[in-house]
Amino acid sequence: MNERAKSFAEVVIPSPLKEPLTYAIPESLAPKLQAGVRVLVPLGKRRVTGVVVGFCARAPREKDVREILEALDERPILNAGLLKLCRWAARYYLAPLGEVFAAALPAGTRVEDRRVAVLADRGAAVPEGAARRIVAELERRGRAPLKTLLRKAGSGGYRVLDDLQRRGAIQIREAWRGRRPRPEKPEPEGEKTVSASQALELTDEQARALDAIEAALHGGGFETLLLFGITGSGKTEIYLRALELAQRRGKQSLVLVPEISLTPQLLARIRARFPGQLGVLHSALSPAERRAQWHRMTRGEVGIAVGARSAVFAPLPELGLIIVDEEHDSSYKQEEGFRYHARDLAIVRAQIAACPVVLGSATPSLESFHNALEGRYRLLELRRRVAERALPEVRALDLRPLARELWQPGGGADTPIFSPALKEAICENWRRGRQTLVFLNRRGFANFLQCRLCGFVIRCPHCSVTLTFHLRQRRVKCHHCGYQKPSEDLCPACGNPALAPSGVGTEQVEQQLVKLVPEARIARMDRDTTRPRGAHERLLRDWEQGAFDILVGTQMIAKGHDIAGVTLVAVVLADLSLHLPDFRAAERTFQLLTQVAGRAGRGVERGEVMIQTYAPDHYALRCVSAHDYRGFYEAEIDFRKALGYPPFGRLVLLRFEGAKPAEVARTANLLASRLRATLRERGKSAVEVLGPASAPIERLRGRYRFQILLKGKQPAELLESARRAQDLFSEARSVRLRIDVDPQNML
Ligand code: ADP
Ligand code: ZN
Repeated sequence: MNERAKSFAEVVIPSPLKEPLTYAIPESLAPKLQAGVRVLVPLGKRRVTGVVVGFCARAPREKDVREILEALDERPILNAGLLKLCRWAARYYLAPLGEVFAAALPAGTRVEDRRVAVLADRGAAVPEGAARRIVAELERRGRAPLKTLLRKAGSGGYRVLDDLQRRGAIQIREAWRGRRPRPEKPEPEGEKTVSASQALELTDEQARALDAIEAALHGGGFETLLLFGITGSGKTEIYLRALELAQRRGKQSLVLVPEISLTPQLLARIRARFPGQLGVLHSALSPAERRAQWHRMTRGEVGIAVGARSAVFAPLPELGLIIVDEEHDSSYKQEEGFRYHARDLAIVRAQIAACPVVLGSATPSLESFHNALEGRYRLLELRRRVAERALPEVRALDLRPLARELWQPGGGADTPIFSPALKEAICENWRRGRQTLVFLNRRGFANFLQCRLCGFVIRCPHCSVTLTFHLRQRRVKCHHCGYQKPSEDLCPACGNPALAPSGVGTEQVEQQLVKLVPEARIARMDRDTTRPRGAHERLLRDWEQGAFDILVGTQMIAKGHDIAGVTLVAVVLADLSLHLPDFRAAERTFQLLTQVAGRAGRGVERGEVMIQTYAPDHYALRCVSAHDYRGFYEAEIDFRKALGYPPFGRLVLLRFEGAKPAEVARTANLLASRLRATLRERGKSAVEVLGPASAPIERLRGRYRFQILLKGKQPAELLESARRAQDLFSEARSVRLRIDVDPQNML
């Protein structure tokens, strides 16, 4: 690009503005600026950090255009491929570019947030007025955030600070909040797993899958491969070999995992195989550590980047392979702010980088499996566990006969938490010195407190859900908004001391287990017990080393750990997720139960899985018991097809939120009818406008929620309609519209 064409720069600033802003480039900065470089620009009375995304020779209203103040990077912080990915994501998810950039860049890249001033030369002449006040403040504190000083200085603050800096009285620098990055720990030496796994001979199935990945790497183009392998079939070993192949070609790789702290084994195995070459991005990093990782990556010092969702934006200059482990996992979907799906973005990123992407799962999402069957993805299948290990025997225990036996007119006895068969199995497994996992997807002691005399149920004042009772803390908590208070003894409605817990959570399961096998060592893993930093890892390590006999937990215990001593997996109640008003309820239940069942029998001994349920005939449960993914897929896909749900149609969820229900409903209704009218005007449209209806959780964090669902077969047309809705909406004030493209959570 010639110098003339570089007179103006398009700059994206972290704000909800949809379009980049145009700034003039001062001559002194022209040679430094490239797309992807951060700049400091004036915005109103503030100065903010932006990212240059392009250049132009003319500006729309040239005389109003302001100048870029500073260039903040020597080299682009976002490379060309990432800029492209961000632009794609902004368009597809209907999100402002500024928000996409904020998600893509590590926290703390916004300079204005962390600039501080320090006193430099105490002898420098300082004029009276605002400047004096600033210097006095600095004499007192040594250093102070720019923000604070600007407040002190009043109007024209920047000019005063600039002047002080020019006089040499103060210095302005970037400072980092939070922990300083620690030097990388030396890699643990002599890991047994290294040599063992390097010497492993791949099974035929593994070898075939790896050949296909190698061919894709060799072909040097974009391809999506779906590695569908049952639990324990050796998917991780294939990832490791694929990473080696990419490395041998001088390429960098990106590995996405659902949650780093839940998958310490995978991380440890990659680290052991590739000592010193890993860059790990996870939520426990301080902003400074995150930024340090980010810069190591931009400099090409990281061979393999591993991270959760947001690592899809990891800045690898020579990206040659992407792996998405547990591709079906719902944590890949960002559910707040800029709502994106990291697996889907990983595929787009691979397309931009012209490299293969491997999606791995024992229970692929219906969308991915459908794509594989349609030939859009290459299907690689592992049907057997390694080393002739058998899949566990899975049995559904029907709770209905027991419930019938205990049932009394007028209520009374709840079904016990453990049926006699399950009790027996847990005790027996303990007697044999084996480990047992006990799974229930609800934390706390009881689902809710209810008055046995008047029926009153304690609910969240901000959300339309019940408050969960936590016994040890004697508190009731909202699992949606975090509201909590001490639990009371008297019913707030009738005043009688008749509040009693209903519905079971993991805390109660643990208590019952202590009664059932008092000598057993029992631990619990859920969000309540893993709050402290490192608690997850500690619990899993202790579990692996056999420090406990029984581990109770929520879906946290279902994820990819491979522990040989576990021979019994007990599911206390499978039905919790089955009846949620979400079209993916059956799929989620099938995936979760298959994952948790897959924890059993990874050692020499065969595992056993017992699932308690009121719906043993539901196809999701039948297929879990039969280890029949394809059977489940076929049953589920028929239902999706009949209703036009993904993968046959795409969805966009328009959610309206506001404090006043009538106003929210009115806004949603108005928008729906206008949208229908515009679609009609344009002739026959394949986009359906469903609703509005109130959301299944009608009220969340004090806001009432209504939603419209757009359904269509053609993504382009569907997005066009969603964009139209966004434009039509802009007038409303007290009601917010959130647009969720490819929604994963319909609640
Ligand atoms: P998955 O990720 O499919 O659940 P893993 O990759 O964790 O399965 O493999 C399960 C176990 O089998 C691991 O302990 C792994 O080291 C071992 N393993 C993998 N491939 C082989 C092989 N070819 N021969 C022997 N053991 C293997
Ligand atoms: Zn709440």
